[in-house]
Amino acid sequence: MITEDAKTRAEILSGKTFGEAIKAEVAGEVLRLKEKYNYCPTLAVVRVGDDKASEVYVGSKVKTSEELGIASEHKHLPTETTQEELVKIVEELNARDDVDGILVQLPLPKHIDENQILERINPEKDVDGFNPINVGRLSQGQTALAPCTPAGVIEILKRSNIEIAGKHAVVLGRSNIVGKPMAMLLLRENATVTICHSRTKNLAEITRQADILIAAIGRAGFVRGEHIKAGATVIDVGINNVSDVNQARELFDETELEKRLNTIEKRGSTLVGDVNPKEAFAKAAYFTPVPGGVGLLTVAMLMKNTLEAAKKNGKWKIKKMF
Ligand code: NAP
Repeated sequence: MITEDAKTRAEILSGKTFGEAIKAEVAGEVLRLKEKYNYCPTLAVVRVGDDKASEVYVGSKVKTSEELGIASEHKHLPTETTQEELVKIVEELNARDDVDGILVQLPLPKHIDENQILERINPEKDVDGFNPINVGRLSQGQTALAPCTPAGVIEILKRSNIEIAGKHAVVLGRSNIVGKPMAMLLLRENATVTICHSRTKNLAEITRQADILIAAIGRAGFVRGEHIKAGATVIDVGINNVSDVNQARELFDETELEKRLNTIEKRGSTLVGDVNPKEAFAKAAYFTPVPGGVGLLTVAMLMKNTLEAAKKNGKWKIKKMF
């Protein structure tokens, strides 16, 4: 029986369910490309230096590629790699017919100009969607390889049958990786979009108007009940670590608190988004948890982008074969 309490708690939008579904669809199409055309999509991942988080992210991307039948190539270059050397590697990958997707893991060491590197990746192989050509295509509402995290948010909304067209979507954060492409993707889906950032005045007044509120600011539990319209869909993109037990008590309700306190005790911290989950669960209709929400879509969308790039890049080979 559904209790009053259960009825008022926001429904969880599960990144795991949607992420697994997308990966299964990609794996199915990859298999079809192999069986029908003897064509295997290939993703090249370039990592420079020894950033620990990047190592984990790249490891997960390579592992997922293998699981889905996508061939992957991982180039790990030393921190001292020069701008010219990295450009040369990108150009070599651009020129190779057997490479469909190219991803240069960010951040790059400080002496390398990231923007210049991203500009050199062939837009048709730019599976991260950060090349200015793809950014431009996206802002023109064209089909483009779109950045994986915001593209994953759109998948969550669509697969949950949450209407986007005509709704007011407020995006909190304006980074090139999440906030701006998120806004463009929502606009392409016909939402009315407002972008907020650190200089926005009367923030809560604006976010409270959102039917769909997307938080991507990198501040643990920043979005409180006062920022959320009752019945809104709240998408939490943030990934932050909380190690303070008292802060954890502010963030989690009784269904979650004990587990989180145990995690802090065991590992020193627990993962938290940009939204206060206790207050979001009480006020929103739908909510993506952290962990278990948006984060699980990002790699799945990278695989989807790689497949899309392969279908486009491999077209001439497929035609030639038949
Ligand atoms: P970012 O580059 O640091 O950008 C943060 C944005 O938030 C900026 O636009 C900033 O405004 C805005 N902001 C910061 N404090 C604010 C405040 N108090 N009020 C209003 N706006 C504020 O971060 P990002 O790369 O977009 O990432 C955002 C979060 O998403 C991080 O927690 C990150 O770890 C997470 N993330 C998750 C995934 C995933 O796969 N789930 C992927 C990427 C990022 P200004 O522009 O005015 O400075």
